[in-house]
Amino acid sequence: MELTSEQELVRDTVREFVENEVGTDVREADETQTFPEDVWDGLAELDLTGLTVPEEFGGMDVDEVTYSIVNEELAYGHLAVATALSVHCLATSCIREFGSESHREEWLPEMVSGRPVGAFALSEPDAGSNPAEMTTEAVREGDEYVINGKKQWITNGERAGVVVLFAKTDRDDPETVTQFLIPKDVDGLEVGKKEDKLGLRASDTTTLIFDDVRIPAENRLTEVGSGLKAAFSILTGGRIAIASQAVGVAQAALDAAVAYANEREQFGQPIIEHQAVGHKLADMQTDVQAARLLTRDAARKNEDGVDPTAAAMAKYFASEAAVDVANEAVQVHGGYGYTKDFDVERYYRDAKITTIYEGTSEIQKKIIARELKSR
Ligand SMILES: Cc1cc2nc3c(=O)[nH]c(=O)nc-3n(C[C@H](O)[C@H](O)[C@H](O)COP(=O)(O)OP(=O)(O)OC[C@H]3O[C@@H](n4cnc5c(N)ncnc54)[C@H](O)[C@@H]3O)c2cc1C
Repeated sequence: MELTSEQELVRDTVREFVENEVGTDVREADETQTFPEDVWDGLAELDLTGLTVPEEFGGMDVDEVTYSIVNEELAYGHLAVATALSVHCLATSCIREFGSESHREEWLPEMVSGRPVGAFALSEPDAGSNPAEMTTEAVREGDEYVINGKKQWITNGERAGVVVLFAKTDRDDPETVTQFLIPKDVDGLEVGKKEDKLGLRASDTTTLIFDDVRIPAENRLTEVGSGLKAAFSILTGGRIAIASQAVGVAQAALDAAVAYANEREQFGQPIIEHQAVGHKLADMQTDVQAARLLTRDAARKNEDGVDPTAAAMAKYFASEAAVDVANEAVQVHGGYGYTKDFDVERYYRDAKITTIYEGTSEIQKKIIARELKSR
């Protein structure tokens, strides 16, 4: 699929940024579970923290394909950074789509500047694939809402300065899920456990605990009861971003495997000359390109209106392809691939998350099957 000259320019800028600014510290960030704030500041300098923000608030307001390309290129170098950015963009998108003019003026220009970082708090300990089962409650009291509950797995949970929160106005009524905007420094909001994860270790994933948090009623972003519909429409774009990130990780694993297979010799020749290895690489290359094309197609369709099925197919295929490609990249590296001296072991651990967050592969298939049933 042809890119426009503007899309190519953004791709080249982000690629150069990844080459120059991300590089060598990724392993250390993974080992120490530390988010690279300097890289984040670099993204902000390029205005990438305003990717989905309208230009009138200082943002780039990029088209869906450009958004996909940025996610792919960043994930090629550092999945945790790409994830942090895509979640920040979920928050700015919610404020842009559902906020009032004063919400937009208050939050968007600052979020474009990189701080405050945004978080998106939908999941709970007992409500993941089915967020309608959430129990966090926001009860109206005069001009305020009083919020109690616990959110889990929140990306940017510790770093964030503002949280887009989903809560029910009546815990016993699944039809009352509503979206709110919560400044992180509000009384009663605490950051809980930081997850110690298999991969994506530099990304900050925490619980958020709401204990009698009081916010002004005007911090409600959607009408009472329209929170889940709002979440799902924003998550369609979010899933295309995750698919793009999966393509980026898969491409990184493929490139590493190809380089290694050309260099490593066994039985007197580079291992790429052994047909079993060459065919493995051919399968990997084909998977990566298929995943990219499906993802770009979903991005184009989302430009013309929300298309949950196209997004679900892209996320399902690209994330599973990333796991397969990273797995084979480790295999091509033999024993060395199983050590921390080579990046492929991290790609293998990182790739797995793309099949889980923003809806598991099983949930993506459920969305695809639902459309088939209604045909
Ligand atoms: C690193 C990380 C970062 C995350 N970031 C965020 C974030 O920023 N904000 C946020 O709100 N959430 C976030 N999440 C949460 C993530 O979206 C959920 O983990 C995910 O949606 C799955 O929910 P669950 O973990 O509760 O699994 P469950 O819903 O308990 O699912 C367990 C298994 O059952 C399967 N399953 C469940 N229901 C069905 C069904 N109907 N049909 C078939 N199979 C089914 C699932 O596919 C899965 O295999 C994050 C998670 C992780 C791990």
